[in-house]
Amino acid sequence: MITCPKCGQANDGSAMNCTNCHINLQWALENATVIEEGRQRDLEECASSLIVTTTDSIEGRITSEYLGVLAVEELRDSTGEFLGSSDVADTPGVASTPLSAAIRDARQAGLSKLREQAAIIDADAVVGTSIDYVLLSSSLVMVAVRGTAVRWLPRKSGGVDGGTLASAVTDVLGIALGGG
Ligand SMILES: [Zn+2]
Repeated sequence: MITCPKCGQANDGSAMNCTNCHINLQWALENATVIEEGRQRDLEECASSLIVTTTDSIEGRITSEYLGVLAVEELRDSTGEFLGSSDVADTPGVASTPLSAAIRDARQAGLSKLREQAAIIDADAVVGTSIDYVLLSSSLVMVAVRGTAVRWLPRKSGGVDGGTLASAVTDVLGIALGGG
């Protein structure tokens, strides 16, 4: 059996091409690193085009599916040094701390991880996003970012609706949490 490096499909040991994505398996196996880099790049592109908002819905869009809760928390010290990351589901937030740079970096990292999580599950947007700050000690801050990942109904391009922008959120993917 050969596991396709591109799509993960299990192929017969004698297969030339992947039965799922049709890539040449020998080439794919020899170039697994290149394929993984491409996959990572695609994911980053997806993540950067996702809408992340604090609102519960997005103008002109109807949610069709809730895809589930996502969570990432990151710990950093006052120098901004990364101390760890977890999938803790929720964190009560307490605002304000002098560690502004560390907090800013943590928040940015949290938001980008939230985007990445949403991209992985093929979300169109993350709604209801909130950011909580927890000062764990005088030099230790946790930033918890969370939101609900959703998928939309396809945008209508005319027809009986007269070309309204109405489209529906098709999937609510869950709460996305990013921490920094
Ligand atoms: Zn494949």
